Amino acid sequence: DRRWIYVPYDRFTDRTGPLTEQPASATGIVIVESTAKAHRRPYHKKKLVLLISNMRHFALEQAARGCKVIYQFSEESHARALLELQRSLPLPELSMMQPAERELRLDIEAAILDGLKIKLAPDTTWLSTIEDFLSVFGPYKSGRSYVMDRFYRTQRQKTGILMDKGKPRGGKFSFDAENRKPYKGLPLIPQPPVFAPDEVTNEVITLVEQTYPHHFGLISNFNSPVTQQDADLAWAFALEHLLPHFGPYEDAMRDDELQLFHSRLSGLINLGRLLPSQMTADVEAACAEGLIPLASAEGFIRQILGWREFMRHLHQQTDGYRLLAGTVAQEAGSKPSRDVYAGATPSALSASLPLPAAYWGVKSGLHCLDTVVAQVIEEGWSHHITRLMVLSNLATLGGFSPRQLTDWFWFAYVDAYDWVVETNVLGMATYADGGLTATKPYVSGAAYINKMSNFCGHCQYDPKRSTGEGSCPFTALYWTFLERNESVLGNNFRLQMPYTTLRKKSPIELVQLRARAQKAIDELQQLPHLEY
Ligand code: FAD
Repeated sequence: DRRWIYVPYDRFTDRTGPLTEQPASATGIVIVESTAKAHRRPYHKKKLVLLISNMRHFALEQAARGCKVIYQFSEESHARALLELQRSLPLPELSMMQPAERELRLDIEAAILDGLKIKLAPDTTWLSTIEDFLSVFGPYKSGRSYVMDRFYRTQRQKTGILMDKGKPRGGKFSFDAENRKPYKGLPLIPQPPVFAPDEVTNEVITLVEQTYPHHFGLISNFNSPVTQQDADLAWAFALEHLLPHFGPYEDAMRDDELQLFHSRLSGLINLGRLLPSQMTADVEAACAEGLIPLASAEGFIRQILGWREFMRHLHQQTDGYRLLAGTVAQEAGSKPSRDVYAGATPSALSASLPLPAAYWGVKSGLHCLDTVVAQVIEEGWSHHITRLMVLSNLATLGGFSPRQLTDWFWFAYVDAYDWVVETNVLGMATYADGGLTATKPYVSGAAYINKMSNFCGHCQYDPKRSTGEGSCPFTALYWTFLERNESVLGNNFRLQMPYTTLRKKSPIELVQLRARAQKAIDELQQLPHLEY
């Protein structure tokens, strides 16, 4: 009379949900290691190693705890493999937490129609429910826009995190305005712990090299937690050494300190190894003890309790932005597709140029872009501001396809799953959704990158010049982006200052800016593509 639980590829936890509801001796778990999904996109090799090695270690950990474990290898989809197991063994009805990814949800729903017996339980790894989201915004209606901050405030009220008698600690909900310092070398960045591959991980590395040889990214130097113990260690390190300085340098970028004070834990959180409830409680406790300043604690909690939860609800409410078709302009050349996995193609700013080969590692000569892409090829990760203000900023300014950029992020980053990558790229980063997720596009010229990073000091292009030979193309791209999109963005109240400046520019300067921007776009488009 064991209870049999299906543990999907992104919920490796026995600290919440169905696994906690009966003793180990009465628990059976099923895990499916499938190649079907891994072949769907050229996922970064390190992402596959992280996921598969955590999966195998989780199975071992649960067996050691006394659970019975069925570990199934399959070339079919996860749910199809479950259905076959259920028929052949036979296995009784399974339980699982509500899938986080849309792709898995569709897979499970299709198998249920074919006879899979599985009961869906609430996913208790989240900090909020859909009712929480709907109580703030109501049901999805076309043409509406969402503001994360509203959701975040109600979540703070509801959970009581960093709240005193109904009031936000420190007198305000957000300390964002204080968290915008460039990093000049102090305080020193602490050395993170090393997680050398063990025997299981080495086996997975060999498997990934053999099965997915043409996938993106480098597999050497794998150095990430794959056990619960190591995931906890990584969190303890971040809490003690990184978070005290998280806030002020949250937006800084460096070519010699690629991680700065970011926790680099998104991959483990999205696999269920680290629980947001534990993380927010630990940060709040450390803040109360004076170990983490309030601005840093609030900044970090806003990411987890605010952005992460908000994005996941938004994805579900808009069916991964598919519901926008018909109300928001779609990318040129995209056709309605019958493939249920085909991604949404909103393109409110009519961007549709192919994503340049520079994103696959062909050098562009732009030091910021080349540095961040090299990091992504090596690590499958870069921090938030490099994603937003280098990779996405350039793609948005250049008019590159938001869908291609999304798919690139999806396979290139270890933490990317549909619910978080589509919302962040189509929504927050590129404004492809026409302002549903963010009230204005996150774009900037060279001045911002120069202020917040040390990239420009090591670049052949001059951030102080916007036209002519040797000038940084970001600035010309920025002004011509605003000019090109004036019919959509010209009345945006948050863009009134730059539009006023643009309208004062002389016809000669505008001609020069257009020429500089076009040259940069042409050069990026002409970079030779690598064979993958
Ligand atoms: P920290 O800076 O230490 O932040 C703490 C945690 O907050 C993160 O681990 C993450 O779980 C959460 N968080 C912060 N911002 C967001 C956000 N905007 N959305 C959701 N969670 C957030 N995050 C992903 O997890 N997967 C993605 O595929 C992803 N794609 C992104 C693409 C773009 C273009 C942008 C701009 C952001 C993307 N993000 C994504 C959000 C964010 O950049 C990463 O979560 C963060 O950089 C991960 O590094 P970290 O763990 O050091 O985060």
